[in-house]
Amino acid sequence: MRIDRAGNKGLIREINEALVLAELRGESLHSRADIARSTGLSGPTVTAITSRLIDRGLVEERATGASAGGRPPVLLGLRQRAGYVVGIKLTENRAIGVLTDLDANVVARADAALALPTPGAVVAGIVSTVEALAPAGHGRILGVGLGMGGVIDRDEGSVRHATYFDWHNEPLAKRLSDAIGLPVLIDNDVNALVASEQSWGAGRGVKNFAVVTIGRGVGMGMVLDGRLFRGSRGGAGELGHMKVVPEGPECECGGRGCLEAVIGEPALLGSLAGELGRRVSVDEAGTMARDGDQRAARVFAEAGQHLGRAVGNVVNILNPDRLLLAGEGTHNLDLIMPAFRRALNETVFDGLQDGLSIHAEAWDDEAWARGAASLLLNELFEPNLRLNSDEPTLIGRSAG
Ligand SMILES: [Zn+2]
Repeated sequence: MRIDRAGNKGLIREINEALVLAELRGESLHSRADIARSTGLSGPTVTAITSRLIDRGLVEERATGASAGGRPPVLLGLRQRAGYVVGIKLTENRAIGVLTDLDANVVARADAALALPTPGAVVAGIVSTVEALAPAGHGRILGVGLGMGGVIDRDEGSVRHATYFDWHNEPLAKRLSDAIGLPVLIDNDVNALVASEQSWGAGRGVKNFAVVTIGRGVGMGMVLDGRLFRGSRGGAGELGHMKVVPEGPECECGGRGCLEAVIGEPALLGSLAGELGRRVSVDEAGTMARDGDQRAARVFAEAGQHLGRAVGNVVNILNPDRLLLAGEGTHNLDLIMPAFRRALNETVFDGLQDGLSIHAEAWDDEAWARGAASLLLNELFEPNLRLNSDEPTLIGRSAG
């Protein structure tokens, strides 16, 4: 950002509007005085901003609050149905979509099978999902947020590396927005989940937290100092490819001994088949372990140990306040947790565990799609500082 733009009135106005809108997100109603208190803006500024937002149909007066003696204050709320967004979670073979209002409440759902793992077929699947959701948006759909596995450059809108498809540097956001006629934001699916945890989940108000997902793969997203951290090319948090077994099993990434190649669902199924002498599903093995089968229990405990050690290393680096475990692998968390906690305790440096809370949440596909919608909503409620992204960075300027 250029320094002379810091005084730009339009930009300040935009930031202040975003502050007020962010205050009004969620269920509770606020008086103008409440908003002034919590944003630090002056009373007249808040009054001017809220009238503009009311004129634009984004905010409405809903009720009157308790009087403190004089005239009772008017309470304001976000007009949740002033606009809608689509959130899509892309899996190996399906596009799972939700339509949400401005507070990320799901108002419609649709999904479509992907005929082929090609960009063209994936775009077609997403387009048909959006078309199925469109009527519920009453012509007020603001954009589409998409979460998928892989290394995603969200600023460029391109898929650098896809977990489930053999794509490289695919300009997916542009292809989609050309086909749909709406702005499209793409991001890593774990980041979508982190965005929703931060907006309304267990990460709300937490300054530093990490979300570790376990299931077919292993992923991680993180909020550091209150902001989602993506790294320089969108590839931060590839916990699944942390090397945990030297010369260990081959990974889909081409490396060996990656955490994902040791405890991801395909690896778990392989270990279970080896121990039990027959193929079983993970849930079946979970039931066997709970019924006292030591061989099945050992496989889950070993997975917990690897995960605990890897996550302990993450804690040593990031020193988070909270750790969230999510994904379909959490269905068997009771079986992996004791070994996970033991390994975590052994790995974490003295003191870094004080105050660290661990939460687990099972997320279904709809929740992931809602996360993708909230990525876009977060963008809509933030001032458009990225207007300046083509300008040299401060580091670039001081070098030149
Ligand atoms: Zn790997």
